[in-house]
Amino acid sequence: MKKILIIGAGIAGISSAIQLRAQGYDVEIYEKESTIGGKMSQIQSKGYTFDVGPTILMMPDVYKEVFKLAGKNPDDYITMTQINPIYSVFYSNHDRLDVSTDLVDLIKFLEGISEKDALGYMQYLSEIYKRYLVAKDHFIEKSFRKPTDFYNPKTLLKALELKTFDSAYHAISQFVKDDRLRKLLSFQTLYIGISPYNGPSIYSIIPMIEMIYGIWFIKGGMYGYVQGLSKLMKELGVIVHTETTVEEIVIENKQVKGIRVDGQLIEADIVLTNADFPYAMKNLIKEEKLRKPYTDAKIEKMDYSCSTFMMYLGVDHKLDNLNVHNILFSPDFDGNISEIFDGTLPKDPSMYFYCPAKLDPSLAPKGKEALYVLVPIPNQKTFEGPWDETQIQSYRRLVLDKIKESGMIPDLEAHIETEVILTPKDWNLRYNAHYGATFGLAPTLMQSNYYRPHNTFSKIKNLYFTGSSVHPGAGVPIVLTSAKLAVGDILADHGKQK
Ligand SMILES: Cc1cc2nc3c(=O)[nH]c(=O)nc-3n(C[C@H](O)[C@H](O)[C@H](O)COP(=O)(O)OP(=O)(O)OC[C@H]3O[C@@H](n4cnc5c(N)ncnc54)[C@H](O)[C@@H]3O)c2cc1C
Repeated sequence: MKKILIIGAGIAGISSAIQLRAQGYDVEIYEKESTIGGKMSQIQSKGYTFDVGPTILMMPDVYKEVFKLAGKNPDDYITMTQINPIYSVFYSNHDRLDVSTDLVDLIKFLEGISEKDALGYMQYLSEIYKRYLVAKDHFIEKSFRKPTDFYNPKTLLKALELKTFDSAYHAISQFVKDDRLRKLLSFQTLYIGISPYNGPSIYSIIPMIEMIYGIWFIKGGMYGYVQGLSKLMKELGVIVHTETTVEEIVIENKQVKGIRVDGQLIEADIVLTNADFPYAMKNLIKEEKLRKPYTDAKIEKMDYSCSTFMMYLGVDHKLDNLNVHNILFSPDFDGNISEIFDGTLPKDPSMYFYCPAKLDPSLAPKGKEALYVLVPIPNQKTFEGPWDETQIQSYRRLVLDKIKESGMIPDLEAHIETEVILTPKDWNLRYNAHYGATFGLAPTLMQSNYYRPHNTFSKIKNLYFTGSSVHPGAGVPIVLTSAKLAVGDILADHGKQK
C-alpha cells in the first residue's frame, strides 16, 4: 500500500485525503494549525460561533460529491438547506434589493427595474450558462499535465467560445442597463479576489451559478461541512497530525522522498501539497533550480488576489434589518475597486455581512446575532501594512463609521459583546497565504487553465498540488474540484491500491 503525505488540512487537503483513502492509500495529513479546515475553520467567543472564511455555499452537488466518492450518503454527515432570498443588497442612496432565485419573484423584481432589463437578464443567464458548460467540460474539470492537453485544436477552439477577453462588468453591461443591476451581476468576481473591471469575463458565470443552482446553508455554518468530513476521515482511518508544521519537501534525484518535520525526515511514496502553492514552492522546496519555472523571482512577479479585513462581532440583539447574506455597495464602487487593486486601503469600502444564526440559532446566544463583516482590501504585495494595533484600530474605526453612515445597523458599536479582527497579516501568518492574498494567485488569463500551476508538478516525480492557487482556482467548489483533479492525476500515475 503506497503512503501519501498531505501538507495542509484545508478543504482541498481533507477532500483529497478522503478520496485517496477510499482508493486504498495509506494517508496522513500534516497541519500547522491546531484545528483542521484551513480558511474554512471556526472562531468561538462568549457563546457566539463564527465561520472564519467561506460563507456562501454554491454548487451543493460538488460539496456532496466528496461523500459519494467514498461510497457514503452525504445526508449522514451534513444537513443542507436552500436559502431564499439569496442576499440583500444595500446601495448608498438607501435603496435595498432582496434577490430571489424563485423565477416568479425574480421577474417581478426585474420588471420593477424595466422590462428591457428583465429580458436582458434572461439572455445573460442563457448565454453565460452556454459558456459555463464549455468551461466546465473543457477547462474546470480537466487536468492540464502536458502542453498538448491545452494546445490542441479542440481545446483552443473551446477557449475561443468562452469569449473571455472582456471584463465581467463590461460583459454584463451588454445585457442590462440599470447600474444597480450591473453591479449586482459583477461584484461576485470579488469572491475570487479579482476586479469586476479587469478580471476575465468568464467569471460572470458566478452570479449565474448563484441563480440557477441556488445558495445553500449547512447546519452549523460552513464549519459544519468540515465537521462532516472530519467524521468521515475518522471512519476511513485517515491520520491527521495537527500543530505540526512541515519544514521541507525532501527530494532526491528529482523524486519525492518525504517531508521534514521537526528536523526529521518522514518518508513517503507521494506528497500532495495543499499549502498555498507560491508559499510552498518558495519555502518548502529549498533548492530553487529544482522548482523551475517557479523561482523566487517568478513567484514574486505573479499576480495575487485581493485580501480581506475581517470583523467577527457578537451583537447583543437580533439584526432584523439584515438577511443571512448582505452586501453594502460603496457610494463610489468604481473608486473602491481601484483602491483595492492599486494598493490603497479603501476610504469608503464596500462590505459583506453574514448572519448565520438566522438559520441556525445555535450559533449565537438566544436573541443575539453572530455578525461577520468582510471588507475587501489590498493584499500585502501592494499594501504591506504594517497591520499593527494602531492600524487595526484605525481601520476598525473607519469600518464602524461607514456602517453607521449607511444606516444598515444603527448604533452597532454600542451593542458589541465580543469582537475578533483578522487582517492580511493573519491570513499570511496563520495559513501561509502568500502576501495574505485570501484567494491565492489571481485567476488572470495568464494564470488560468494551462497557465495556472498544475496539479501534477512534472519536474519532480510523485509531487502533486491542490488548493486555491493551483488549477482550477479558488472558492470552495473549485478547490474541491482541484482535489478531485489531483487525486485523478495520482490514480493515473499510481493506480488504485489493494
Ligand atoms: C474571508 C474569506 C471568505 C471566503 N468566502 C468564500 C465563500 O463565501 N464561498 C466560497 O466558496 N469560497 C470562499 N472563500 C474561499 C475559500 O475559503 C478557499 O478557496 C478555500 O477554503 C481554500 O481552501 P484550500 O484547501 O485551498 O486552502 P487553505 O484553507 O488555506 O488550507 C491550506 C492549509 O495548509 C496549512 N499549511 C500551510 N502551510 C503549512 C505547513 N508548512 N505545514 C503544515 N500545514 C500548512 C494551512 O494552515 C491551511 O490549513 C473565502 C475565503 C476567505 C479567506
